[in-house]
Amino acid sequence: MIALVVVGARGRMGRRLVALAPEYGFEVVGAVDTDEPLTDRHRAAAVVIDFSVAAQAQATLSWCSEHGVSLVLGTTGLSAADEVAIDQAATTIPIVRAANFSLGVHVLAELVAEAARLLDWDVELVEAHHRKKVDAPSGTALVLAERVAAARQVHLSDVVRHGRDGIVGARPAGEVGMHAVRGGSVVGEHAVSFYGDGEVVTLEHRALDRDIFVRGALRSAAWLAGGRAPGRHGLADVLAR
Ligand code: NAD
Repeated sequence: MIALVVVGARGRMGRRLVALAPEYGFEVVGAVDTDEPLTDRHRAAAVVIDFSVAAQAQATLSWCSEHGVSLVLGTTGLSAADEVAIDQAATTIPIVRAANFSLGVHVLAELVAEAARLLDWDVELVEAHHRKKVDAPSGTALVLAERVAAARQVHLSDVVRHGRDGIVGARPAGEVGMHAVRGGSVVGEHAVSFYGDGEVVTLEHRALDRDIFVRGALRSAAWLAGGRAPGRHGLADVLAR
């Protein structure tokens, strides 16, 4: 069995990570949450999986870097400074970072990029999540919007429009609209619509079960445990094997 530490272990994702870890050959040697921080006691870990809160990301990154432990980082809502910290830590340890660990969303992102390249239509992105989600828009929605911007060779910050309220004027060409819906127990839904004159193309993914992310994260951890060079990897690298 490979030693695994889960950060955010008492959360919705964390509890499932702990439950399914043995199926992927892992023994959970540390269940870290607010009442039990990462310490020297967790040094035996081969891999850490962190699905907790953005405020914890830098502490996890420096702990893993200091102890030479590989990391799967799934937390969303990270800041630009957190992203820099990931790149820095990735010079010393292998990290798999994804805002969404589902295979379906990985494919959705490819399809969205292709549609954005083929269609210069109005893009509107709507995401829905359960009422307890703390960040908006979702990390996945941001990744999808980034794929649209990259396909069109523009910066997302120059074209994004978060919601609309009041006398907002006519829609400028090239704008990418983002809308976050929150309620109930929705696991995660993302729809990217391309509106042309007289026709609409919508690409959509609906997560029906949180375990899709958990399995993607554990598969990534197993991939890291196979021995990887330091660097920042994504789900595409794990799936390519
Ligand atoms: P949650 O609120 O149910 O769980 C978060 C857990 O982290 C809680 O148990 C909380 O006590 C704990 N925590 C808070 N501060 C901590 C700290 N400093 N150190 C350790 N633990 C701490 O949330 P969740 O639904 O399990 O989601 C967790 C994160 O994972 C969120 O950022 C969410 O957006 C993200 N997420 C990512 C994916 C993906 O595929 N990448 C999928 C689902 C959720």
